[in-house]
Amino acid sequence: MTLPEPKEWLLDEENELRIEIDFDTKVKLRLVTGTAEVFGTELGQNVDYEFSGRKIAVFTWHGCKILITGTCSVEYIANETPMLSYLNTHIALEQRRVLATQNNKAGPRVMIVGPNDVGKTSLSKMLLSYALRQSRQPIYVDLDCSEGSITMPGCLTATPLTEMIDVEEGFGSSATSAPTAGSAVMPLAYYYGFPSPKDNTKLYSLLLARLAQSVNRRLEEDEAARTSGIVIDTNGLIDATGYEIIAQCIKAFSIDVIIVLGHERLYADMTRLHQKSGVAVIKLAKSGGVVERDNAFRRQTQNQKIREYFYGTSKSELAPYSTMINFHDIEILQVGEGSLAPSSALPIGEDRKVSETHVVSVEPSENLLHSVLAVSNADKRVEPDILETNLAGFIYVSEIHDSRKKLTVLSPCPGRIPKKFWWLGSLKWAED
Ligand code: ADP
Repeated sequence: MTLPEPKEWLLDEENELRIEIDFDTKVKLRLVTGTAEVFGTELGQNVDYEFSGRKIAVFTWHGCKILITGTCSVEYIANETPMLSYLNTHIALEQRRVLATQNNKAGPRVMIVGPNDVGKTSLSKMLLSYALRQSRQPIYVDLDCSEGSITMPGCLTATPLTEMIDVEEGFGSSATSAPTAGSAVMPLAYYYGFPSPKDNTKLYSLLLARLAQSVNRRLEEDEAARTSGIVIDTNGLIDATGYEIIAQCIKAFSIDVIIVLGHERLYADMTRLHQKSGVAVIKLAKSGGVVERDNAFRRQTQNQKIREYFYGTSKSELAPYSTMINFHDIEILQVGEGSLAPSSALPIGEDRKVSETHVVSVEPSENLLHSVLAVSNADKRVEPDILETNLAGFIYVSEIHDSRKKLTVLSPCPGRIPKKFWWLGSLKWAED
């Protein structure tokens, strides 16, 4: 097969090449001359980077030449970007880190808020990458349960970062396959199991508080992380529930910087509600390159994430371990009454608080086929503690042998017997 001719792109200083690559296509990108970065991580010269199912921006501060091999569904150069304001924000945060180091105080605790698809995750990556490039060791907190940029969707996570974020894999390189796959960086993950904080607000708040406790303890013990601070990526909820969650988050994580991305009213509200308590509220513009993702794209991203969790990426392949488990050796748990609709679907005024953190057992059956379950680190079923126990990892149910009362599961960690308590959420995946 002959490879397509590479296409050459010449970028002037402070320009950005925006490309979108479909899931069934692979595109190679090479920086030939100059310097360039992808969401804050610098590209090496004459290295081939491969992308599939991604929407990215290759930004250059001083100009560069790039070669693209393969077909992008969208490709264009933009000369207007908000990158300078993003860099200035980093510089202001870095000044706080310098002061924190001199005075043995805490570094900036930043929370990025805004509606969906304004570039919150991309800005988190940039601010974290810039901090890492200055030898800082910030903690990345991901409260966006719909996406799961660190591990699977449905989780709230905190990851102490020490290595640069990978250009091709994003946060994946540092953590996607962990906790179970033995990555160098271990994210702390709590299982929520729903796409929106509105689906079970009580549980979401409980887990947010638990995660904050763990992060605060880590910051007390780890000086480098303490002075580097944290960056929190949030979900795009900006209604009354969203505001309550933001307020809870500010308190729990002692947030001192709120970045409002691409939303004037939210900025005005955050300033009015939180500035008087000493929180700096910063407004930043949404980049014209941010792409709205439809449900089909989100679903495909989710599938790609699940696949990479078990099989790795083309750069670092994993061989998942298939094992047969007796029904009676495990206990499958679910929060609330399994068959009920989420709270957000209940009529106004109807309360389901009692069941929102109530744990129920689920009988293993054919219904579990193709489910991705979260494996709890808990050794005993004590309520409500089990809800707040962090995760060991995930397994995928590949076969159900109902008559033999057994199931076959895939796990990324060979030789390791999964723990007893497994959380069932709404994640399904048909292995291809
Ligand atoms: P949010 O976290 O607010 O939902 P994201 O940061 O995830 O938004 O961005 C939405 C999509 O747009 C992602 O696929 C991301 O890779 C893409 N994107 C963000 N910024 C740019 C840009 N400058 N050029 C091209 N694509 C971008």
